[in-house]
Amino acid sequence: MLKAKVSLNAFPSFPLADLHAHLGASVSPTTYWEIAHEQGFKLPERDYHRFIEYITLSEKRKMELKEYFDTIYHPLLDPLSSGTFACETATFQIMSGAYRSSNIHLIELRNNPMKHNHGGQEDLDHIIMAMLRGMEKALLQYPTLRAGLLFCMDRQFSYEKNAVIVEKAIKYRRRGVVGIDLANYYPPKGFAVKDYRGLVRKARNAGLKVTIHSGENAASDDLWDVVGYLHPDRIGHGIRAAYDKKLMKRLAQKNIVLEICPMSNIATKAVENLEELAFCIKTLKEHKVRFTINTDWPEMIEQAHLNNQFAMLRNQGVLSESDLRECAKTSLTASFIPKGGLSAYL
Ligand SMILES: [Zn+2]
Repeated sequence: MLKAKVSLNAFPSFPLADLHAHLGASVSPTTYWEIAHEQGFKLPERDYHRFIEYITLSEKRKMELKEYFDTIYHPLLDPLSSGTFACETATFQIMSGAYRSSNIHLIELRNNPMKHNHGGQEDLDHIIMAMLRGMEKALLQYPTLRAGLLFCMDRQFSYEKNAVIVEKAIKYRRRGVVGIDLANYYPPKGFAVKDYRGLVRKARNAGLKVTIHSGENAASDDLWDVVGYLHPDRIGHGIRAAYDKKLMKRLAQKNIVLEICPMSNIATKAVENLEELAFCIKTLKEHKVRFTINTDWPEMIEQAHLNNQFAMLRNQGVLSESDLRECAKTSLTASFIPKGGLSAYL
């Protein structure tokens, strides 16, 4: 997100909020390139433009979530965004770039800190403090920006490792960690959402908010368990709920807000195409399920900055301008970030 500025006359002219962006997929390829060269990191492509092509998805280059995770995200982007230098630089660049280029006035940036410490080589507190330094720097430079971090537990991690993530989130709560998530899919045998009831309750009792990845594609649909056992404030994706009337009713009753990520769903084939995405969004709207529009991977998908996604949804007739204003408003009200920018954490 390094582009210099956003045109104030272009659509959308109203302030945006991104509630669902992953650190590893929000670093601009230019920043990745510079971080890698600063540290002598060996890249799979020696040419800058080929490197960008290699890590970026687009309308023409779609890839299923698992394939992207296994071939690019975990083997390349995780180590590239690891270490204190990368974490501080990345967090600062992501947050300041979002404000400058996408009209984003509020950003919740999520990550699993254990995916950014080179497999345990670096101390977790140093990694977390590096992210917080990057965030504080961005909040100092852009005083109207509001920002916060979310820590993601992982369905593929052991319960014990996830308990450490929650502990760290609680420890840094006053410094800018505002919530927890349970991310990643394809859990090992024996994993059960209901086993996380206690841990999620502990986080909530400590003042953290809760969002849970679920229902992104057919393979990751444990929405009923998530809603029934974890009582999240929000759900990451949840687009599959559009195929379950009873579930939509429950989501609306419980006032759970969905974090819809349109271009990510298209690029990773969570939905077949724009038509299916439009069907899901319109169905959720009809059933009065509250939802927001977010990026998920703003830099690893071509043209996926939040302002572009708003423009795409309007131009393709998926949502009207007033619907999109409503989405932006919902994001602000459903955000976990306290009012007051940097002063909220001082
Ligand atoms: Zn996500």
